[in-house]
Amino acid sequence: MLTEKSRELWWELDTEERQILGALKDFLKAEVAPGAAERDRTGEFPLAIVKKLGELGVMGANVPEEYGGAGLSTRVFARMLEEIGGVDGSLGLTVASHNSLCTGHILIAGNEAQKREFLPKLATAEMLGAWGLTEPGSGSDAAAMRTRAQETPEGFVINGSKQFITQGSVAGVYVINARTDPAPSEDKKHLGLSAFVFYGPVEGLRIGRKEEKLGLHSSDTAQLLFEDLHLEKDALLGVRGKGFYDVLRVLDGGRIGIAALSVGLGRAALEFAAKYALEREQFGKPIAEFQGVSFKLAEMATNLEAARLLYLRAAELKDAGRPFSGEAAQAKMFASEVAVRACDEAIQILGGYGYIKEYPVERYWRDARLMRIGEGTTEVLKVIIARNLLAQFR
Ligand SMILES: Cc1cc2nc3c(=O)[nH]c(=O)nc-3n(C[C@H](O)[C@H](O)[C@H](O)COP(=O)(O)OP(=O)(O)OC[C@H]3O[C@@H](n4cnc5c(N)ncnc54)[C@H](O)[C@@H]3O)c2cc1C
Repeated sequence: MLTEKSRELWWELDTEERQILGALKDFLKAEVAPGAAERDRTGEFPLAIVKKLGELGVMGANVPEEYGGAGLSTRVFARMLEEIGGVDGSLGLTVASHNSLCTGHILIAGNEAQKREFLPKLATAEMLGAWGLTEPGSGSDAAAMRTRAQETPEGFVINGSKQFITQGSVAGVYVINARTDPAPSEDKKHLGLSAFVFYGPVEGLRIGRKEEKLGLHSSDTAQLLFEDLHLEKDALLGVRGKGFYDVLRVLDGGRIGIAALSVGLGRAALEFAAKYALEREQFGKPIAEFQGVSFKLAEMATNLEAARLLYLRAAELKDAGRPFSGEAAQAKMFASEVAVRACDEAIQILGGYGYIKEYPVERYWRDARLMRIGEGTTEVLKVIIARNLLAQFR
């Protein structure tokens, strides 16, 4: 069951990890939960909250201590994301993308100078990080990107655009992916791509449209426009032309976080619906006593528990330095699907009240809906999972 006890049962936390998670839960309850619905209404970006998460070590959870981070495992960071997701999905996406994508790319591909320059600022939330892969014409087929990085004697000049970038308009550190070299052929278009890291705001980077979204209203999503953005040679992140391999590794890690965030959202919906079902009476008894309702709760709880085990398994493999790409894809695909279903069922259990903004379950559903799309859609993840599976039998 999704009780406090079972949350601690698997992949036991040590004393220090418990303290860190406990401090986060206290903070979420006292300072994040009370304003979550209002921020969903206004779309206000919670900068003060994010700064405080920096003080709690959440914004540099996986960054080694020598670079100013908390040096925590993926497993603990994922548990943090589940807790944040259970309170405020927008904040969860902010934390997930900052840590797993922007910071994650620097951790994977950065040289020593880049790590020393950028990681301490990101880990303390002095600056927020944004990561640009998606473009107007290329999402799932990310290697088809059109943003160009032209080499010059001084460095590189970037032209193009990026679409749907989380923290796009509030970031201080940007990691963006662009084509530096022509693709050898259509089926090798993943070659010739490179990543760059730089501070913003900067001349040549224009923040385009800020998106109005179905959910996740207080997370920032913006278009980035590069108009002769001049970068020095040392902005190149990783090996020129081989950047797409790093992108895939970044996304593998990111998917564990999105899975955990999904479980958090689904769990919040389940817990609200369970309490409601015990209180709401129809036909002279609590609706929880109708099997048609209690069976929904049983399925939601079981699916979410299974999703947690999947993300913890992927996190354990990553922490152990073992391959985890297929497991992360499974965790993200399954967790996002069951979370959306749980949120939908929670709306159903609340009946008409579930459809009304006074109750939080419609917000959970709107927030969870992105999880089936971002960092690899369910369909693309199935392609990855099937490829990994079939490779074993070829
Ligand atoms: C709120 C939000 C935040 C985001 N944050 C970021 C960010 O910070 N950085 C970033 O780079 N991007 C970000 N994205 C982009 C996100 O990762 C993409 O939207 C996602 O990868 C899907 O790409 P697309 O929207 O272009 O859809 P498309 O790739 O056009 O897909 C459309 C449909 O076709 C399906 N499809 C595509 N290819 C296949 C296939 N081979 N087999 C079967 N079906 C397929 C998809 O599953 C989907 O259903 C964000 C998006 C949103 C909405």
